Amino acid sequence: MNLTKNQYQNVELIKRKLEIIFKKYNQNIFLNSDPLGIVHEYKNSKDQELVAFVSSTFAFGNITYIRKTLKAIFFELGKSPTNTLFNMGSNLDNTLFRDFKYRWINSSAIRTFMLILSSILKKYGSLENCFLENYKKDEETLRDSLIHFRNKLINEGKNRKIDEKGNQGLQYLLPDPSKSSPCKRFNLFLRWVIRPSDGIDLGLWRSIHTNQLTIPLDTHMAKICVQIGLTKRKITNYLTAEDITNSLKAIDPIDPTRFDFAISRLGILKHCPKKCIVEICCECPIKELCINWEESKIQSNLNKK
Ligand code: SF4
Repeated sequence: MNLTKNQYQNVELIKRKLEIIFKKYNQNIFLNSDPLGIVHEYKNSKDQELVAFVSSTFAFGNITYIRKTLKAIFFELGKSPTNTLFNMGSNLDNTLFRDFKYRWINSSAIRTFMLILSSILKKYGSLENCFLENYKKDEETLRDSLIHFRNKLINEGKNRKIDEKGNQGLQYLLPDPSKSSPCKRFNLFLRWVIRPSDGIDLGLWRSIHTNQLTIPLDTHMAKICVQIGLTKRKITNYLTAEDITNSLKAIDPIDPTRFDFAISRLGILKHCPKKCIVEICCECPIKELCINWEESKIQSNLNKK
């Protein structure tokens, strides 16, 4: 990328500031503010892969409820969730997830989801093998591989009996990356398993390049990225996730998504208010990048006049 002098100085400033929050937040003491913390409770890599997939799939809503729900799911799946799914018959024991309910995901949706994972594991041995079947190392992003991966999961559930609400829930759990959704939860899973083990991410899938990852994008992350100039796009969709990732590639071409955990802590830990509150924002390590901070300074200067 050929940058003008101003752009170069801007990239340098963003890099310096992002490195500060990376150092501050990319630490395992913050894992309890994230569903990823639950994955770290498992030591076996097969279990970590499966638990990571289930945990990222249910990573929507309030973090306290997400973690509570995941604890309940993994309690039902026993000590080794992978063994439980490998040994599962083609029909679920009627007692499993019978009373499950998390937001719009009902018992029928999660039961089908588990049966899908069970048959994928039996067919491919691991989620990684299933993903790698359509992986191309010369592609800029993993979006196409993800579309194939998701379609294989959906096809595995095609002939299963599921009620209308359950089907809607299942489509929500496994969104289509060929549509506009940023597919935050799929990209979160990929970040967790592909980025090298650094106390946060797991480094389980070693044959995929970190520069093919896309930032896991939700509305909170999108808002902060607009504020600090990583994108001008106001819509939270897959193209915006790719646009932000491209901006991050100017800062770290090899591992652009390494800043994700740190940037998202600003929102998750409520260190970044919806509107600039001077008492909070003056402590923010990236305030020099933030349009809200700039605007509030202008406003306070105007008020003084
Ligand atoms: S200056 Fe305030 S609003 Fe801007 S990123 Fe920092 S905490 Fe958030």
